[in-house]
Amino acid sequence: MPYQFECSQGNCQFRIRSSSEVEVKRLVRAHVRMTHGTRIAQADIDRGIERIELA
Ligand SMILES: [Zn+2]
Repeated sequence: MPYQFECSQGNCQFRIRSSSEVEVKRLVRAHVRMTHGTRIAQADIDRGIERIELA
């Protein structure tokens, strides 16, 4: 079951989906750092990650 994360900062449309939770976390951190110039707390990543079922 893949993992998904939607960035909730401002009007950001960024969304990442991967079968690897580690990959999602890595890409989310990279996105927040590069796009928003800040860091995201581990707890916020954990809270934001959803497991999704493919239709
Ligand atoms: Zn974002």
